[in-house]
Amino acid sequence: MKLSEGFFYTLKEDAKNEESISGNLLTRSGMIKKLSNGVYIYMPLGYRVLSKIEKIIQEEMDKAGCNQLAMPSLIPIDIYEASGRKDNFGKNMFSLKDRYDREYALGPTHEELFVMAASMKIRSYKDMPFNIYQIASKYRDETRPRYGLIRVREFKMKDAYSFDATKEGLDKSYQKMYEAYKNIFDRLKLDYKIVKADTGVMGGELSEEYQAVSPIGEDVLVLCSNCDYSSNLEVSESIIKENPTQEEMLPYEEVYTPNVKTIKEVANYLNAKEDKFVKTLIYNVDNKLVACLIKGDRDLNEVKLRKLLNAKEVTLASSEDILNKVNTTIGYVGPINLNLPIIMDSEISNLTNFVTGANKENYHYKNVNVKDFNSTLIGDIKNVKEGDLCPKCGNSLIFKKGIEVGNIFKLGDKYSKSLNLKYLDKDNKENYVLMGCYGIGLDRVLAAIAEQHNDEKGLIWPVAVAPFTIGISVLDVNSDEEISKANYLYNELTKQGIDVILDDRNERIGVKFKDFDLIGIPYQIVIGKKISDGIVEFKQRTNSETKLLKLEKTIDYIKETLTKEQM
Ligand SMILES: [Zn+2]
Repeated sequence: MKLSEGFFYTLKEDAKNEESISGNLLTRSGMIKKLSNGVYIYMPLGYRVLSKIEKIIQEEMDKAGCNQLAMPSLIPIDIYEASGRKDNFGKNMFSLKDRYDREYALGPTHEELFVMAASMKIRSYKDMPFNIYQIASKYRDETRPRYGLIRVREFKMKDAYSFDATKEGLDKSYQKMYEAYKNIFDRLKLDYKIVKADTGVMGGELSEEYQAVSPIGEDVLVLCSNCDYSSNLEVSESIIKENPTQEEMLPYEEVYTPNVKTIKEVANYLNAKEDKFVKTLIYNVDNKLVACLIKGDRDLNEVKLRKLLNAKEVTLASSEDILNKVNTTIGYVGPINLNLPIIMDSEISNLTNFVTGANKENYHYKNVNVKDFNSTLIGDIKNVKEGDLCPKCGNSLIFKKGIEVGNIFKLGDKYSKSLNLKYLDKDNKENYVLMGCYGIGLDRVLAAIAEQHNDEKGLIWPVAVAPFTIGISVLDVNSDEEISKANYLYNELTKQGIDVILDDRNERIGVKFKDFDLIGIPYQIVIGKKISDGIVEFKQRTNSETKLLKLEKTIDYIKETLTKEQM
């Protein structure tokens, strides 16, 4: 592209309403433009980056033997009604009506359609395995779109589905995608972690996430300081520390704690340690109230609670519910004489003589022990904390934040059962097909790369996805020699299949440098006065050093540099 005739602009001012670095830099560098909340236009430069990401994904999927197809976005609503997922998605699904009043959805996900496609082929076990995928737009009515391209309402996704007859087959298909994803994210130069994750609304037996490490990530990654243990906080576990003190159990007694409600306040008032407290949280679990007991310095993990109780939905009970249905006082809830099922976190089994609420305004109990109340169920319902012990090796756990850029699921027969996808096995018996599903969010990948690769001057694209690999700046566009040599390099490099952008605008050289730095061009060539001696300047976006090259050696030098880069 030559800037004198290309579509190109940059903004001097920071973007308004962009709270993330990537959202701001992508907007300022003229790559994207916000259309409405969670909906963006990709401008030519941004579209080049997106297309390169798409190509890398396609190459690795094709290498793994996957077959690309295209699903529609406009989908009759009865398809989601039949699978029971219209209710699951609820308000997150965009729906619309046609002129005959028939209802449609803008596809939020495509499992149903992939099963339909697979059923065209599958009759017997001989028709599998295979993997089909698409790269297409999806639509979800997010409550809070934010962070530029990271949480949007219309987004591009690669989703693949594997179909197998046996469990071993599914394991193999899953492993293939696991490796393909590693290749993809390595080629994209992302700093990422692969973590175990909750199978959530997708269901199934195993799920792993590819998380780009970033301070604006919405997921908490729990990593071991010593071994390869890595997990999303949602499903993370730790070893419970043994109770070091062998205190004698005392009888519990009521203590007057006027106007102190928070654990900190009560601890100060009773002159006790905060880790001697057990808090009682009342949860609404599929419309039934239960009390959950965890240590005062812990947070409850709702994913674990939902799984432990095999529930559809768990939410903190409203104060109305607590007032109307339980014989207690908010702020002073405790397990003794509470008329609710009690779910106790396993860590509490180790505690002696702890403090709880007394179900009575302004009173707590001290010296409470597990024998003083009846727990219905004991299990792990707590969030891991930094410094907890790794369940694999016992060393301490550390936290990082991640942007989920990809995920892989072993779905098993969840969808084939609900959508009735069967095959005949060797004995002519009917069985359900085993599925895996594998997603990558392209916009998020692009934003995550931008979050990880930037400095005060702007973006620093890795060569693999940079909109252009080489930028040529001409110092004086009125000099015939400079312009003709710049055009010569531009044409030669283009012939070699290298993406070149030539800044032949009548602008100050400072402006040209600033623009190439802002849009993140990895390599730059400057053609100035030294061209009369056959010399050009060469520099990399990642450092400020300038190298002088002979014009005739420049193309070879660049080819060598790019070959090294790919190794
Ligand atoms: Zn470990």
